Amino acid sequence: MSQLAYRRVLLKLSGEALMGDEDYGIDPKVIGRLAQEVMEAREAGAEIALVIGGGNIFRGAGLAAGGMDRVTGDQMGMLATVINALAMQDALEKLGGKARVMSAIKINDVCEDYIRRRAIRHLEKGRLVIFAAGVGAPFFTTDSGAALRAVEIGADLLLKATKVDGVYDKDPKKHADAVRYDQLTYDEVIARDLQVMDTAAFALCRDSDLPLRIFDMSQPGVLLRILRGEKIGTLVQG
Ligand code: UDP
Repeated sequence: MSQLAYRRVLLKLSGEALMGDEDYGIDPKVIGRLAQEVMEAREAGAEIALVIGGGNIFRGAGLAAGGMDRVTGDQMGMLATVINALAMQDALEKLGGKARVMSAIKINDVCEDYIRRRAIRHLEKGRLVIFAAGVGAPFFTTDSGAALRAVEIGADLLLKATKVDGVYDKDPKKHADAVRYDQLTYDEVIARDLQVMDTAAFALCRDSDLPLRIFDMSQPGVLLRILRGEKIGTLVQG
């Protein structure tokens, strides 16, 4: 019997998680450590898909605020997620993992196109799959890409790694008395107007009854502990 509480999961990392102490780009040490965490979970038997944001390089909304056409900015943001995905593929392969980047926009000289059945096949064969370019359309985020792909591949859980160790009733950086929730329903998140992920992504999780765990990945070993069933961070479900 498997010692894991979850068989197949999708892990969403923000682009900023790759920066470390820098304010732009990718810190090789940081991405190496994140890859190590993923490999540990993979070696324990989990099927793991990843989505990595692009905020460490470009965000469409930020570029548009500087005067750029929004759609062009979002396309640059999607390409940024491909860059991050390639870096993660490399980091995983350095550790002996088998990884495939699959992009929602066609860029198949550098990675595979996203094909759902092929993605599931990779996972069944023990490969790590990194979904790049979000949903492949402007005005979306990689949170939406993560929710969509998680539902498509039949993930048991969507894991969203953040800088904060869960969902709080108010901003814990500003309020010393902020309280962290261990568990919430989708309806409670909406009623309390809690910022868990963007609205489109959250609606997809709720409509598909996909459980979501928000947690801080800075502690070594935390991913595997969650997969073994430890209640770390905040769980949102129906
Ligand atoms: N993006 C997009 N469509 C998608 C996913 C991403 O246009 O389906 C663009 C958008 O400009 C976004 C950027 O890619 O700002 C980077 O993604 P995101 O902001 O989600 O990255 P994160 O904040 O997680 O690092």
